[in-house]
Amino acid sequence: MSQLVSSMNPHLQTLIELQKLDDILRELEAEVQSLPKKIAQIESQLTEHIRAVDASRKNLEENQRLRRRRENDIAALRDKISRFKDQTLEVKTNEQYRALLHEVEYHEGGIRKLEDQILTEMIESETLDKKLREAERSLATERALAEQEIAEATRRKEEDDQKLREVRARRADVQSHLPANIYEQYERVARQRKGQAVVPVHNGSCGACHVRLRPQAYAESKSNETLVSCESCGRILYYAPEPAGE
Ligand SMILES: [Zn+2]
Repeated sequence: MSQLVSSMNPHLQTLIELQKLDDILRELEAEVQSLPKKIAQIESQLTEHIRAVDASRKNLEENQRLRRRRENDIAALRDKISRFKDQTLEVKTNEQYRALLHEVEYHEGGIRKLEDQILTEMIESETLDKKLREAERSLATERALAEQEIAEATRRKEEDDQKLREVRARRADVQSHLPANIYEQYERVARQRKGQAVVPVHNGSCGACHVRLRPQAYAESKSNETLVSCESCGRILYYAPEPAGE
């Protein structure tokens, strides 16, 4: 590489450096932009999970509330029944007696129905309780993980911001070594080619658009002494020895 660099046009060398710095900047900027979104996503997932646990807890509380209400209803019915039974001692006719007995049977039926409902709800409450405890456990794990990930993303963003400042300063320095017209050419091509303005020649072709170079341009690019542009895409070309085996 040192041999290549020593005979290389200094502007071309600067342009390659500029391209490298812009590639790094682009990646850093994309990451810096993505990190707040990532943090927001982690937070909204956690909020969703917290809501699910709250809902699970409310289901269990509702189940317990229903059971208490049914137990009160049963107690009220038992009172009624015992009042009817007291009245049977004072009735005068068989009809009155049968009517009271009918009331008693009716309310006993009501109690059985309520007891069945309580039993079903007790079985449900075991499942609800188990679900709630599982959800609370997994929420605790997720909360710890989310805090870790948010701390990591925040730290990463601070690092990236610092790196961005360094790379931007380095870029300004590199840019200052280029004549204005060459820098403008670089910027123009970069704008048109999604930031990719300087590419290596690959197997006699442009490394980006793969259009074959004319022999004259290829020979010129191989020397790296002048600035050669791809005739097809306009990118600035440089020659780097092909890796062995290709
Ligand atoms: Zn090209």
